[in-house]
Parts: sequence; structure tokens; C-alpha cells
Amino acid sequence: MSKSKGYAAATAKAPLAPYEFERRETREHDVDIDIKYCGICHSDIHQARNEWSDYQEECIFPMVPGHEIAGVVSAVGKKVTKYKAGDKVGVGCYVDSCRTCLECRQGLEQYCTVGTIWTYNGRDKQGVPTYGGYSDRIVVDENYVLRMPENLPLDACAPLLCAGITLYSPLKHWGAGTGKKVAIVGLGGLGHMGVKIAHTLGAEVTVLSQSLKKQADGQRLGADRYYATSDPDTFTKLAGHFDLVINTVSAQIDWKQYLNLLRVDGAMVVVGLPEKDIPVAAFSLTARRRSLAGSQIGGIRETQEMLDFCSKHKIACDIEVVPIQKVNEAYERVLKSDVRYRFVIDMASLQ
Ligand code: NAP
Ligand code: ZN
Ligand code: ZN
Repeated sequence: MSKSKGYAAATAKAPLAPYEFERRETREHDVDIDIKYCGICHSDIHQARNEWSDYQEECIFPMVPGHEIAGVVSAVGKKVTKYKAGDKVGVGCYVDSCRTCLECRQGLEQYCTVGTIWTYNGRDKQGVPTYGGYSDRIVVDENYVLRMPENLPLDACAPLLCAGITLYSPLKHWGAGTGKKVAIVGLGGLGHMGVKIAHTLGAEVTVLSQSLKKQADGQRLGADRYYATSDPDTFTKLAGHFDLVINTVSAQIDWKQYLNLLRVDGAMVVVGLPEKDIPVAAFSLTARRRSLAGSQIGGIRETQEMLDFCSKHKIACDIEVVPIQKVNEAYERVLKSDVRYRFVIDMASLQ
């Protein structure tokens, strides 16, 4: 075991504070990574505050959150072939999976039927708790490490590892592209990446935000249209308009109103994860043969494909870099939707 330091929540709802812990020794297939930056995902807040207790068997404290990890390889195990010291690498929401189930073999490790091993608030194959990226270093098997774009700033690419892939995967799966009308609900960390990626894929992109406050930003990011969901006319004007609606909202919404925005055969894909079950009327779906679906991050292969796509099209995240000492303040600002559009922790502040 070797020492690591970071910030942890000691209990649910406790503010994050400095914390020292052990990481495993570098094994044959492991990559030892010096973490340079880590994005703050809304999921970090849900987890550090144990807001998903209805859906998770356990919540492990102290918890070091962080699954948008970007850094530089400091050492590798003797059987590692993919990476070497000095490489710019990333780690997303999970660090291992069973590797043998059908889903793992298909590159859908995020849906591993035995159990995906989450980057934090999880347990590794030995049952040891995992600790995330709000820390100085992490040790990860090379098969779960990603190669970061060389041509883009590392800090602005960190959030691609969750926010980027969480939108890229459903946009690709549901065929967003030329001739498709796509709505992104919520212009936060996930949403702003959805706008950039859907626009680059050639779709007509509409942002549905609570207000028009961020309209100029939305258009700059690539939105063709922008509407406030606080205005009831929005739901009349856009009824039956969309092929695909991706909902990134972390809270409850009026599902009936949003489903009614879909045309025949349209799909609404849920990526936002509120604390409680969602109420949906059967008629909202049957009326136009609509689908309601969900999507969770992406597999390792697809995450690398997304990073390469972002590199090719020069897409990174719009970020506000903060020192780790400001993490609790950043959480409060995320909760108020006061973030343009992702906080990224500069890990140099941990020294
Ligand atoms: P975020 O930055 O807080 O963005 C969420 C956006 O939703 C806000 O910016 C806001 O956009 C809108 N919103 C917030 N509260 C709202 C409310 N009460 N009513 C209507 N709209 C509201 O969060 P994020 O990091 O993008 O994450 C969003 C959600 O996705 C979280 O629940 C997170 O846990 C989940 N998530 C899921 C996956 C997955 O794999 N499925 C991956 C990562 C995150 P406007 O200001 O534009 O209205
Ligand atoms: Zn996330
Ligand atoms: Zn598996």
C-alpha cells in the first residue's frame, strides 16, 4: 500500500475536508497516474450526500469523490503495454469490471452484469473501497485507462470522461446527425457537452433551459434554437417536434410536457438521476409510439472513440478551474445552476 492524499466527505452531507488514505501498490497491469485535474460532476454531490440511497446498496464513507480524472502517467507495472511514463491519460466513472460477461466482451463495461467497479464509492475485486479523483494520484489497470487528446488543454478535457461520454453515447446510439432534431434539457455540465457534440454530429440542436439567461452561451456552443421551460408557450410551440430529447436534469420535471415534445417514434433519453422515481403516464408514450429510455456513461472503447472525436473536432469543455479548497463552495454553485459549465479542480492546489 502507498499513501495518497485528497479531499473526502467523512459522512453523508459533511463538507469535504483533507483526507489521507492508502492506494494499492502498482500491479503488473497497473498504471500509476499523477492526477493533474478532476472535474466536479453533479453525481459527486448526489453521492457525497447519499442522495441515491433508494437505488444503492451501500454508500461508503469516508468518500473521496471524482470521476473526471486527467493526469500524467508516473509509473507502469511490468506487463503494461498501452502506456508509458509521461503519457497524458484519463480515468472516468469506473476502474474495472468482470471482463467476461457478454456486456464486457461487447465493450459495454458500464453495464457489466457481474458489477462495474466504480471509481469511488465502490469496492474492488478484493472488497476494498475505491477512492476517486479529488486526490493526488490513482492506480488503475491499463484496460480502464484512456488516452487524452494531445492537441487540447488537459484541464478542459477532464470532464469529457463523464459529461462528454454520457452525452456522446446516447447521441450516437439514437442516431443524432444531419436531419435529426435533438433537444438537450438543462444547460449544465452534461448539457453543454450535449450541445457541442450534437451540433458537431450535424443535428439541429435546441436547448431547453429553465430561463433564457444562458441563451447567448447556448448559441455559441452550437444550439440552433433556445427556449425557456418556465414559459408555458415553449411546450405548445414545440409539441411533436423532436426525434430525440436528452434529459440531463438532476431534479424532477413535468414528464408529460417533455414527452409531448416528441414526434412519432421519437425517444426521450434520461441521463439525469434525480433522487426519487419518475412518474410517467402511459398515454404519453402510446400516443405517438414514443420511447422512454435511459443511458449510463459509455464503454471504454466508446469513451476512447469520443476522446478521439473531440480531438479531431477540437471540442473541449467550458470550465472554471478552482483550487481544491473551494470544492464545497463549488458544490453549492452547481446546486444553484451557477456554473459555466463545469468546475475542474486544479490538483496542484493540494500540495
Ligand atoms: P449540472 O451541471 O448541475 O446540470 C444540470 C442542469 O439541469 C442545470 O444546469 C440546469 O440547467 C438543469 N436543472 C437543475 N435543476 C433543475 C430543476 N429543478 N428543474 C429543471 N432544470 C433543472 O449537473 P450535471 O453534472 O450535468 O449532471 C446532471 C445529472 O446527470 C445529475 O443528476 C447527474 O448525477 C447525472 N449524471 C448521469 C450520468 C449517466 O451516466 N446517466 C452521468 C453523469 C451525470 P438550466 O440552468 O439550463 O435549466
Ligand atoms: Zn459524472
Ligand atoms: Zn462484465
